[in-house]
Amino acid sequence: MSTATRRAVLGALAFAALAAPGLPAFAQGQVLNLYSARHYQTDEALYANFTKATGIRINRVDADDAGILSRLKAEGAASPADVILLVDASRLWRGEQDGLFQPVKSALLEQRIPAQFRGADAGQGPQWFGMSTRARVLVYDKLRLKAADVDTYEKLASPALKGLVCTRSGSHPYNLSLWGSVLEHLGPQKTEEWLKGLVANMARPPKGGDTDQIRGVAAGECGVAITNTYYYARLLRSTKPEDREVVARTALVFPNQASWGTHTNIAGAAVAQHAKNRDAAVKFLEYLASDDAQRYFADGNNEYPVAVGVSTENPALMQMGRFKSETIPIAKVGANQVAVQQMLDRVGFK
Ligand code: FE
Repeated sequence: MSTATRRAVLGALAFAALAAPGLPAFAQGQVLNLYSARHYQTDEALYANFTKATGIRINRVDADDAGILSRLKAEGAASPADVILLVDASRLWRGEQDGLFQPVKSALLEQRIPAQFRGADAGQGPQWFGMSTRARVLVYDKLRLKAADVDTYEKLASPALKGLVCTRSGSHPYNLSLWGSVLEHLGPQKTEEWLKGLVANMARPPKGGDTDQIRGVAAGECGVAITNTYYYARLLRSTKPEDREVVARTALVFPNQASWGTHTNIAGAAVAQHAKNRDAAVKFLEYLASDDAQRYFADGNNEYPVAVGVSTENPALMQMGRFKSETIPIAKVGANQVAVQQMLDRVGFK
């Protein structure tokens, strides 16, 4: 679906049920409204399997993360949303703060999703659950640097990398979460000094997305780029000659393997505050945590399954290799975004 079509669907609020022959009679007509910031074709098959198993149809409304959050706010109690899928813990934390979700107590989800990758539980259950993980890593130019030059996040601020660091906007949720993680590990004073050093090392002002930074490395404009794993995995799987060239010139490092581990974020799901189909919504979250759905969901965006005991079979991720992830609760990282945004303002990180 083109972006224009997606917007049209979103605008028209198309809640018409799709034809679904052969459904169990008891569930005929039940529709779950899903607001999704994930737009992968493979997700379609995932939802079809849920319908096959439960008879509950999925009506998907696509928008980006910010669009979904503002739409939920605007709709208030009248919102038809049942389930919400967002990418990055900073956005899930924001949705929770804005009162857009509700707590879910599910023994199955608690057993399947590690506590590190769930929202905080104030007694009634977490308000969101990670459904896949992605690591925030460094990709460097093999002609100019060695892995040892960029094997920690701390080194991004070292004088040796002057004029070599490329990143998207400091305020992008992916980066807010990374800075929030560093804050958790290093404390406020060292983190702000580090951000200052990182800004001083930039090859160019922040612009573009993660893939643009990787391409900047391959083009010789940057020495090292900050990126989520799935963007590099996409290039690894690409057969386009220009992507093969990018892969040939660059290499990936999982930072901080000798210390706290690589920053690992999530794409996650929540039940909407005003869900009209709460039971079906919880059932859907539990379905997403099942072995097959986990592999499928993660693979659709070259991410890692989050559920305990489920491993990836994605060839690009297997090529990138295993790594040690940080273990701090991702909810803490989300909560740090206000503090790190103030640091960004102070050090002039746009
Ligand atoms: Fe992304």
